[in-house]
Amino acid sequence: MSNVPQQRLVQTAIPGPRSVELQQRKTAAVSAGVSTGLPVYVERAGGGILVDVDGNQLIDFGSGIAVTTVGNAAPRVVERVSQQVQDFTHTCFMVTPYEEYLEVAEALNELTPGDHEKRTALFNSGAEAVENAVKVARHYTGRNAVVAFDHAYHGRTNLTMAMTAKNMPYKHRFGPFAGEVYRAPMSYPFRWPGGPADCAKESFDVFVQQVHAQVGEDNVAAVVLEPIQGEGGFIVPAPGFVKQVADWCTDNGIVFIADEVQSGFCRTGDWFASEHERVVPDIIATAKGIAGGLPLAGVTGSAEIMDSVHGGGLGGTYGGNPVACAAALGAIQTMKEEDLCSRAKQVEALFLPRLKRLADTFPQIGDIRGRGAMLAVELIHGPGDLTPNAVLTAAVNKACHAEGLVTLTCGTFGNVFRFLPPLAASDELLSEGLDIFEKAFAASV
Ligand SMILES: *Cc1c(COP(=O)(O)O)cnc(C)c1O
Repeated sequence: MSNVPQQRLVQTAIPGPRSVELQQRKTAAVSAGVSTGLPVYVERAGGGILVDVDGNQLIDFGSGIAVTTVGNAAPRVVERVSQQVQDFTHTCFMVTPYEEYLEVAEALNELTPGDHEKRTALFNSGAEAVENAVKVARHYTGRNAVVAFDHAYHGRTNLTMAMTAKNMPYKHRFGPFAGEVYRAPMSYPFRWPGGPADCAKESFDVFVQQVHAQVGEDNVAAVVLEPIQGEGGFIVPAPGFVKQVADWCTDNGIVFIADEVQSGFCRTGDWFASEHERVVPDIIATAKGIAGGLPLAGVTGSAEIMDSVHGGGLGGTYGGNPVACAAALGAIQTMKEEDLCSRAKQVEALFLPRLKRLADTFPQIGDIRGRGAMLAVELIHGPGDLTPNAVLTAAVNKACHAEGLVTLTCGTFGNVFRFLPPLAASDELLSEGLDIFEKAFAASV
């Protein structure tokens, strides 16, 4: 267990005076392009609590955006990392390799969906993983086109900006973007023109027609899909959509890439969200939850696809850094030994009834969705008026922050709360966080 006290404590304004001071230094020292959602400066964290520089103890419903799934400074991660930094910190795997990289690759090959022969390459960030997955797919197929979806988020590098759907803040005036990226409609039940039932019936057909008419199957190297979309609004596609798309890719010689950077590593109650869809992706991109907070990312795919690339075609100075690999081994061990997939399901069981009750009271809650400890509520204006309610979302968010609850929002229209608590947080803390959310909601409508 964490030695950070597992209690909420708000003893100053949020942010407190010391944080305010640091935020002034931030303004003077850090590019304005890097902004902070809740400028409380953190000193220590563990379990479900962040301790700030003013001594406040905040309940964490964000896990640093789905990263500290095993908890912050999780004991096994700390232990492995501490040992590794004493042994060696870097050699570059492409120069003189080390066993820890192999152990992470073996773990990913085993844990990702499918029991076929697989290979993995390691990188530093989710964007880098997605870029490399696309590189491999293009190389393997000899084709150029990449299909991504409405509301997709794949990162901030040039290629992944092109694949990301939302202009502000990710793309605005950062172009020109990489070419040969095409966008298809997302299966988004809540906002499908004819409603959820029509979405299940129609979204795959619309996808197929649009790719056929606007791109041509034979030109497509890869279709890249988040099985549950992250930044775009925690959109869970209609049942069967992911599987239909993956099967269609197989039929057309297209590499199906699952971007599980946010949904991976026990977050949804399975090791990977693809499992729930009964899909075995050709390539799966992972990062965020993989290493308990250290920067690491993986691209895992069938041996045939991954080994099609010439030697030296993939890599990078830091990719699969030994300290990050040690952290990943500690994180994966934690997920296994503490059965964090089951814990994510318990979190869902704790959250959903309360969110549903809230939705019964407030017509501004239009939709509740997600899986495991990756849950969201979408805010609208009222019954029958699905207009996104970003103003209320921002107000509730602010009210939560003031009470010492770290909440995150998302969505193309900025009107979705997403809940991504660490799986090390106790039921007591999660319930208290929900109390705060409910009160903040009632006070803000
Ligand atoms: C966060 C995220 C990325 C980008 O990962 P970085 O580590 O920030 O580069 C890509 N895809 C998805 C689904 C993400 O949630």
